[in-house]
Amino acid sequence: MAGEPQADCLFCKIVSGEVPATVVRATDTTVAFRDINPQAPTHVLVIPKAHYPDAASLAAAEPRITADVLREAGAVAADEKIDETGYRVVFNTGSGAGQTVFHAHAHVLGGRGLNWPPG
Ligand code: AMP
Ligand code: ZN
Repeated sequence: MAGEPQADCLFCKIVSGEVPATVVRATDTTVAFRDINPQAPTHVLVIPKAHYPDAASLAAAEPRITADVLREAGAVAADEKIDETGYRVVFNTGSGAGQTVFHAHAHVLGGRGLNWPPG
């Protein structure tokens, strides 16, 4: 069923605790943890606990949880004090855009200058 945990999904395993992560925030519907291969001084992933393969399918099925993910991204930025200097929230969607984990996730990146447009 849509949103149910997937046995072969890395981020579902982080939600369940089967795979460890450095969790910085959690709510009833979301988990935020540090990226294992950080691309900036702050690089945190915010994920819904429910499994959807990408941001668009999450938004179509669960608008409230999508809002929770975005609110938590802002809370991470405030916690990390990158809200004043500026930060980026990124949803890579599709392998051509660099998506490697097919469980929706927001990258929160900051703490250094960020080029525009991104590569
Ligand atoms: P994406 O390429 O947009 O799908 O993002 C997936 C992100 O997950 C990458 O930035 C990876 O570095 C990160 N990642 C992969 N495995 C782990 C893990 N076990 N814990 C934390 N982050 C991870
Ligand atoms: Zn999953």
